[in-house]
Amino acid sequence: MSEVRVRFAPSPTGNLHVGGARTCLFNWLFARSQGGKLILRIEDTDPSRFQEGSVGQIIRSMKWLGLDWDEGPEVGGPSEPYYQSQRTEIYQKYLKQLLDEGKAYYCFCTPEELEAQRELQRQRKQPFRYPRTCRNLSKEEVERRIAAGEPHSIRFKIPMKGNMRVKDMIHGRMDFDLTQFDDFVIAKTNGTPTYNFAVVIDDHLMGMTHVLRAEEHIPNTPKQILLYEALGFPVPEFGHMSMILAPDRSKLSKRHGAQSVEEFQAMGYLPEALLNYLTLLGWSPEGNQEIITKEETVKQFDMNKMSHKGAVYDIKKLYWINGQY
Ligand code: GLU
Repeated sequence: MSEVRVRFAPSPTGNLHVGGARTCLFNWLFARSQGGKLILRIEDTDPSRFQEGSVGQIIRSMKWLGLDWDEGPEVGGPSEPYYQSQRTEIYQKYLKQLLDEGKAYYCFCTPEELEAQRELQRQRKQPFRYPRTCRNLSKEEVERRIAAGEPHSIRFKIPMKGNMRVKDMIHGRMDFDLTQFDDFVIAKTNGTPTYNFAVVIDDHLMGMTHVLRAEEHIPNTPKQILLYEALGFPVPEFGHMSMILAPDRSKLSKRHGAQSVEEFQAMGYLPEALLNYLTLLGWSPEGNQEIITKEETVKQFDMNKMSHKGAVYDIKKLYWINGQY
């Protein structure tokens, strides 16, 4: 098998919370246990979601936890992460490829028109589907509207029939009905690529062999696989980690107490204890050992032992583990 290459790809929307730290940790463990490489990529194509200082906070928290990465862009070198905002020209090249090959199209629908469609479908109690209004515009019409300066996004042409089967490293077989998917936007009206597009280009160009990320991205996976296929890229393996749940099995939120790595650091928790605790959230060491060092975990790590069930967050357990260090 070729060298394992994985990534941690946070969006800089805040500090590193336990969910993100766990995603980073399992990517790190997988890379280290396979003699592979981990890449850090900051997904900052959407400035409206940025939070000032977030990248610095994420990196400081990773360093505090001892989760290092291996590679960076040419400028800046290995100690720098990749930033999607610095890769605009690369994305433009592949957008053009899809447009030239008729696999994507310009969409001139205005937000008002889309909202009217959405309202209509809401009244009919249907889920919103873009009615593919611009999918078959003539080349002349497209050129005329672009020349007239009409704002436009770019949409990807979804095959309108068929199923897709994905073998997930954690969830096993997953089937998707492609008729349920929209011709989704791959570049916004302001020209910036959307998450689903940028992530595929980067994961391919950065040589990712495995994409390990949070379960909330499962619905994006078939869209991304369709993009890999349309671009002629080999498809990596996917693994989706379960959610971290609150003790009542609801979604973990602020009301459940401290959640960011920085908060735990400020409260005096040891990085080894937090890592140990996160390791146990979704993965079980041999003999259900409760105290396990990072080094031991690397030796024992086996992706097949990751649970697809939601892991319940238990601050008392973390407190207990911290006391053992
Ligand atoms: N930037 C995405 C996030 O923060 C990660 C996407 C991915 O791992 O594919 O959720």
